[in-house]
This record gives sequence, C-alpha cells and structure tokens, in this order.
Amino acid sequence: MDAHELLGLAPGASAHEIKRSFRRLAMLWHPDRNADPHALEHFKALRAAYESLLAGLTSAPPDDEAPDEADGDDEAGAAAPRGADRRQDLTLTVEAAYFGGERTVELDGEDECGACAGSGEEILRHTRLCAICHGTGRTHGRHGLAPCRHCAGRGYLTKQACPSCHGSGRQRTLRPVIVHLPAGMLDGEEVRIAGGGDPSPELPPGDLVLHIRLAPHDLYRVEGRNLVLERPVSALRLLTGGELAIPLPGGTRTLRLEPGPATARTLRVAGAGFPARKGQAAGDLIVHLHPRLPEAPDDAMRSLLERLDALAAANHSRHLPDVALWEARWLRDQPDES
Ligand SMILES: [Zn+2]
Ligand SMILES: [Zn+2]
Repeated sequence: MDAHELLGLAPGASAHEIKRSFRRLAMLWHPDRNADPHALEHFKALRAAYESLLAGLTSAPPDDEAPDEADGDDEAGAAAPRGADRRQDLTLTVEAAYFGGERTVELDGEDECGACAGSGEEILRHTRLCAICHGTGRTHGRHGLAPCRHCAGRGYLTKQACPSCHGSGRQRTLRPVIVHLPAGMLDGEEVRIAGGGDPSPELPPGDLVLHIRLAPHDLYRVEGRNLVLERPVSALRLLTGGELAIPLPGGTRTLRLEPGPATARTLRVAGAGFPARKGQAAGDLIVHLHPRLPEAPDDAMRSLLERLDALAAANHSRHLPDVALWEARWLRDQPDES
C-alpha cells in the first residue's frame, strides 16, 4: 500500500498534514491501546510510511531566503504534542561549508529490538523445564508452597529473554539522515530538519537541529563571511607586479598584482569570500602577502643582483631613499671616492 494512502493523505501533503495524520492514526493503532492482533504490524507500517514521507520532504533543498519559522502553522496556533528536538553538532571543513550540498549525518539512537520486535522476549521453539521450580510449578515461600512466579505455575517455560537485547526490547542504532546544507553556512549557525528528531512510538518526532561547527583549516580563516589567508610572495614580484595564483575552495584564482613596494600588502577581492546567504552579502577574499627575498643565490642570480644593486646605488635617492638619507646624514666625512 502506498504511504500516502496508508496515512489517508493526498499526494503532495505538507509536513504538517503528514504529522497530524500520523498522530491521529498512531493513537488508534498503538499496540498498547489496540487489542487487534494486527495492531503492532499496522502501527509499524504507519510509522514506516510516516518516516518515508517526511524523509522525502526534508530531502528537498532548504529555502535559503525563507526566514526561520518555528512550526507556526499548527491548528489553533497551539504547539501540537510531539517528541523533543534532537540537537547535535555537525563539524564541517571550510570547503564543505563553502559549497553546502548533501551530507549524511549518522545519528546515534535506540530503536526497538529487531529480533523480538521490542517485546524483549524470545518464543522458544521447544518448551523448557522451569529451572526455578524444577517443573513442579510451585516454590517454597514464607507462607508455604506457592505457584512459581518464574513460570506462572506451569512448570515449564515457553519464552525467555531475547538474547539479542537481553530482554530490554531495545537496540542501539545508527540512523542515517540525509541533510541538504545551503552554501556558505558559518560556525554557530543551525540547520533544522523537520521531523528528524528521535522517533517515539506515541508522538511524532521533533526536529533535528544541527549546530554547525567549522573545523580549523591550515590555510583559510573565516572572519564573518570573509575568507582570509596568508601567502608568502617573492619581494621581486611585489616590485615588478604581475599575476599571483590564489587557491580558493572552488579552484585556483589568479589575482592581478600592481607593481609597488616590496612590503607586506593585502589584496582584497569583494564578493569572492563566503557566498551570500540569508540576506547577507557574500564576503570578501582577503589575502595577506608576506614578501620574501630570494635565498641561496647561485652565480647567475648573484651577477644579476650585483647589477641590480649597482643600478640602485647609482640613484639612491630614488631607489633606496632611506639609505640615501641615512648616508647623507651620517657619512658626511666620508672621503669622496669618485
Ligand atoms: Zn530483543
Ligand atoms: Zn517454575
């Protein structure tokens, strides 16, 4: 039977309609309330239908621009009873947060034991003699012989504690939930997945609220929506200008470097940081450049550097003004060598 039919819903029903219908039917069919021998089976089918419909809804990408609204469409404006929200951290790399997209989150949880359908008991294939009363059905109590409580006076057992769950009727589960993250989520933001909370037998589940954490990155810092990084660069390149490759989450981007002093500099590209989201403009890309002089010159480089130094010395006041000023002040007594 189709999940919509099972819940008495028309195709395209909203999350709210799905929850309301499941709530109503779950009350009717819960095995604790309904003596029908098929109640448990039907209840499970309802829950499966409910979960699959909700999962189908939440797999639609969240609307970036919609304001966060806290389930304000319930009947009579009152919050309908439902399970508690489940809150969990979700740590993302800077790249994953930058791009957003589909992610599978494994939720640690509990469900009814599959081996015993939650009863905690295993029906024995062969009846077994009761070890407490040794098959007599009676035990010695304070008031003399009394019916054995372990076997209800029968002297034999037809069931035992489920070996899978040791009688608890529960088992640990890892529940995968597929979430769609919008591009550009920041540390501290939340994603709410309607109906993604822990399943409960009586109430429709609450929401799953994922608290976004950005993992530290070896290259990037995220400041507001700005993407900041440090880059060493040749001091000669800073003097000559040219092109400079910058690695971004989306691939390498080449920035234009204007000729200028060989000192630390910052390049800023508006809008090239974290993408725009929820009415906030895209951040900037900020690259701090740290000049480095060439090290360990070989012969070819040394001869070029000597020529360069000679050129600079020939016009100190233009190329090395600080040196020119210092020498003019402190080397006045120097004999003129020229
Ligand atoms: Zn079990
Ligand atoms: Zn017994």
